[in-house]
Amino acid sequence: MPITVKTFASTGEAATALSSDRAARYLGGGTLVMRALNEGDISISTIVRASDHALRRIEAAGPRVTIGAAVTFATILAERELAFLHAAARSIGGPAVRNMGTVGGNLFAPNPFGDFTVALLALDATVALQGGFGARDVPIEEFLQGRERQAGSVVISISCQRPTSTEAFRYRKVTRIKPKGGSVITVAAHVPISSGRVVGARVALGSMAPTPIRARAAERALEGRPLDSSSIAAAASAVTEGTSPVDDALGSAWYRRELAGVHLRRLLSGQE
Ligand SMILES: Cc1cc2nc3c(=O)[nH]c(=O)nc-3n(C[C@H](O)[C@H](O)[C@H](O)COP(=O)(O)OP(=O)(O)OC[C@H]3O[C@@H](n4cnc5c(N)ncnc54)[C@H](O)[C@@H]3O)c2cc1C
Repeated sequence: MPITVKTFASTGEAATALSSDRAARYLGGGTLVMRALNEGDISISTIVRASDHALRRIEAAGPRVTIGAAVTFATILAERELAFLHAAARSIGGPAVRNMGTVGGNLFAPNPFGDFTVALLALDATVALQGGFGARDVPIEEFLQGRERQAGSVVISISCQRPTSTEAFRYRKVTRIKPKGGSVITVAAHVPISSGRVVGARVALGSMAPTPIRARAAERALEGRPLDSSSIAAAASAVTEGTSPVDDALGSAWYRRELAGVHLRRLLSGQE
């Protein structure tokens, strides 16, 4: 089937084209869209692109970091100011995928993908969206809950607060194949410490629900307590509450439930 490719200078025009055609798909780095097309996905008849430079911009000098949706993982790995996101970027695919795959595309990636999004969810990121009728900022959790409905919008950028210290933000992806491979589970935790206690705990999980989700029971177990073996054990035993893990070739839902607590405990204890 012939595919029409429409390239626009602005994200506004791209969003209008996207929202007026159900068979149109936005093209980021194309690691998933091009694979779908090559596999003969007939639900896509139009590819929409935007050449706006804002999509490739990184603002990382201050305490709040903004990353354009078209920024690739290879670019993130080359940016020293984004060192706190390097573990998450490095965990994605191999070099070819990291060279093409984008932060914006990762927000839409189905399981077992979406690893970078797990990190962004733990960091309480905000997604800047351009729809056919205007722009708006959406908390990433809300964005993920309504992800299917966002199909007619273009993600412009993602922003988040830089963690206050290296220990405050932790990320771990569990795979069967190293150094790359699909996620069995992915865990990210933001645990800032103030006066010896965790303040503003956020724990995010990948492959434990249809989209990355927060582990709120684990967050509650950590909040206001010292980050010690007792609070970590409480968080680890609560981490699967509210989850609906994926059952796929990489691991059963049962196995993922068993692993989540083990890896959250290791992550928070600073173990390899
Ligand atoms: C071999 C291989 C290995 C992989 N390994 C991993 C991995 O380890 N971890 C992981 O997380 N992912 C992995 N992926 C999946 C994928 O490469 C990444 O999730 C990547 O971030 C997707 O970004 P993209 O720009 O290539 O998306 P695209 O393929 O361009 O798009 C994916 C979806 O996002 C939408 N989209 C993209 N950009 C925007 C935007 N700015 N606004 C609105 N919608 C947009 C598209 O319309 C489409 O629906 C892998 C893929 C392959 C092929």
